[in-house]
Amino acid sequence: MSETFAERLLDWQLVHGRHDLPWQNPRHPYRVWVSEIMLQQTQVGTVIPYFLRFMERFPDVRALAGAALEDVNRCWAGLGYYRRARFLHQAANTIVRDFDAQWPRTESAWASLPGIGRSTAAAIVSQAYDVPAAILDGNVKRVLCRLHALAGDPGSSSVTDRLWALAVSLLPNRDGARYTQASMDLGATVCLPRGPRCESCPVQELCLARQRGISELLPTRVAKKAIPTRHTCWLVMTDQAGRIALCQRPPTGVWPALWCLPEADSKDALARAWQQAPSALAESATVRHTFTHFRLVARVFRACATHGHAVDGAGQSWAVHDRASIWVDLQDSALPAMPAPVRKLLLSTTP
Ligand code: SF4
Repeated sequence: MSETFAERLLDWQLVHGRHDLPWQNPRHPYRVWVSEIMLQQTQVGTVIPYFLRFMERFPDVRALAGAALEDVNRCWAGLGYYRRARFLHQAANTIVRDFDAQWPRTESAWASLPGIGRSTAAAIVSQAYDVPAAILDGNVKRVLCRLHALAGDPGSSSVTDRLWALAVSLLPNRDGARYTQASMDLGATVCLPRGPRCESCPVQELCLARQRGISELLPTRVAKKAIPTRHTCWLVMTDQAGRIALCQRPPTGVWPALWCLPEADSKDALARAWQQAPSALAESATVRHTFTHFRLVARVFRACATHGHAVDGAGQSWAVHDRASIWVDLQDSALPAMPAPVRKLLLSTTP
């Protein structure tokens, strides 16, 4: 069955798969690696423009390793899951320093780098070197659960172990790169989470879920844990030149090292930190953003800088409660790296 499954998938990919993704042409370990990190939790259509900009800004691993993290974050800003940018930067430095800028050849060597798990390591090796290696991303998990009518929490270790064993058993002995691409393409374009297009599926005759009419019931849906809501207050403080104050977040945690609006637990605390009378802060908006582990609700206040901070020049920084802070001109073409909700708020509401 393994040969049959793989052969069907490979034949199908030739005609129906994706062949013009920017990281496929040319296919190089650096480009494959960056694309795989970007594709973690992000769809192809979103990744492409970021990937192209990233390659232009950091054309090879030495350029990435030698860059400031701030520059990498700026290139990444808007793509989300910012730890990935930091891991890429750290891994680039490891490759240059410890591997003498030579590309790792094995899955285990790739998996020793920050931000790279077993499936990502296999996706990189198979595509960079065209050798068969089993991947198990969300799309592949869904296909395999259906193919074998495998019920149970797909996040549990027992189901995951079975899926890994299946993924390995189905591997072809050739065309590693195309097989990996085919596996991703099938889940992304045919074996969809809702409404799988079984009529167009190259492995429909092998699929137990289809035979039993339970495709839509698999993988087993597990009730999502309720996530908490965190409330905060943000300040859009404008100086006489129309610039906005931003503060840099800590290097770890949410939005690591990105530039955000001044923040505090309450309006009064915000006013105190920025030496304003609470009455000078006017509430102007509410921003909601959902992270994987909590929801953020930020009340947004506006105020005009009256003294002190406003004398600093653009690009110079000072510290407020140990946070580096800067004034930025939103018309500037080289804005610092900001999370998407902050950037969107400022660009849509600030004249
Ligand atoms: Fe998915 Fe349907 Fe193909 Fe089975 S037959 S793998 S459910 S698309």
